[in-house]
Amino acid sequence: MSKKKPKLGQNFLTDPSARMRIVEALGDISTSTVLEIGPGRGALTGLLATRAYRLIAVELDRALAPRLAEAWKHAEHVRIHQGDILELDLAKLEEIPGSTQHGPLVVVGNLPYYITSDILLHLFAQANSIARAVVMVQEEVADRIAAKCGNSDYGVLSATAQMHARVEKLFVLPPEAFTPPPKVHSAVVRLDMRPRFEELQVERIGFMRFLQMCFHQKRKTLVNNLKGIPTPGVEISKSATVLSMIEAMGLSPSIRAEAVSLEAMAQLYRKLCSSC
Ligand code: SAM
Repeated sequence: MSKKKPKLGQNFLTDPSARMRIVEALGDISTSTVLEIGPGRGALTGLLATRAYRLIAVELDRALAPRLAEAWKHAEHVRIHQGDILELDLAKLEEIPGSTQHGPLVVVGNLPYYITSDILLHLFAQANSIARAVVMVQEEVADRIAAKCGNSDYGVLSATAQMHARVEKLFVLPPEAFTPPPKVHSAVVRLDMRPRFEELQVERIGFMRFLQMCFHQKRKTLVNNLKGIPTPGVEISKSATVLSMIEAMGLSPSIRAEAVSLEAMAQLYRKLCSSC
């Protein structure tokens, strides 16, 4: 008989030392507002509440959220909010009753794996409101986020993450650290948010679209991926132009996106934009 998938990605962390290591990876949070994503049954919530200046925890489950809210109703600095993290505008957290914000956020969560990428993209889109995030993801996702350019795991998620943050893979946990155990190993990553758009002189939305195009088909060359895909904001149609620019930058005409550094990607994007 096949086992049912846990509802809402609910694999609860039961390993006490892992809980402590995650919270410690946040560093000193005594003056920070901490946003916890998916507190569930509160595996991290208690440890966070004793250390954070303020804690806002956002849980989608309509049964778990009120239970946790009841447990923390007397702690003035803790706010449990029932809602979807993907719908939360981090710059407007103070609109949640009782949740005044205090400087850039520190984010933490053992993420629900069915929407890991969506949550990461949501956090990156709001990187200016976040100082640091420590999140548990599937190990394979952690390897992709942290992969260095040139590595076979390096792809659009790595490039996106590394345009927004300094990434560190901290430690790995086996399925037995959770109830019910997930099918995969998990890993904790720390993201120190440092968006690089200004430094690399590229506009965020346009450059993010450009990266999507560059990695569109992983096995294709960069030139072929950039050939004739009409995307609003980035009009790239002439493969001859792309090819000549790539060659002028000293890169091989058959290079793939995974081998191109973010600095070179930004240089190519700037050249293409200025030639449009
Ligand atoms: N933090 C708890 C722990 O470590 O045991 C629970 C982690 S569990 C992997 C993920 C949690 O995220 C679940 O409690 C789930 O209900 C919640 N969740 C799922 N989707 C969510 C969403 N869109 N917004 C907020 N919470 C969500």
